[in-house]
Amino acid sequence: MTTSSQEQTCPVCGVTVANDVVQFANGSTGTRARLYARVCQYAKKPECINQDKGLIGVVLQEDGFMEAPSINLAQ
Ligand SMILES: [Zn+2]
Repeated sequence: MTTSSQEQTCPVCGVTVANDVVQFANGSTGTRARLYARVCQYAKKPECINQDKGLIGVVLQEDGFMEAPSINLAQ
């Protein structure tokens, strides 16, 4: 496949990453961190293109979709 941009599709997760912008199947976009939090961390396969912590960066709590424990840092 030849594309002009740095577009990659994760063979495991089926999600496309173009220039560090993740295109989710439902049409929304997000970061690699969000992709990791929602999909790739569960895949745990070496074929997954989004396992590089250096590229993923910091995964924010809001990147996950499941109920996260409410942490109040300002407490
Ligand atoms: Zn993946």
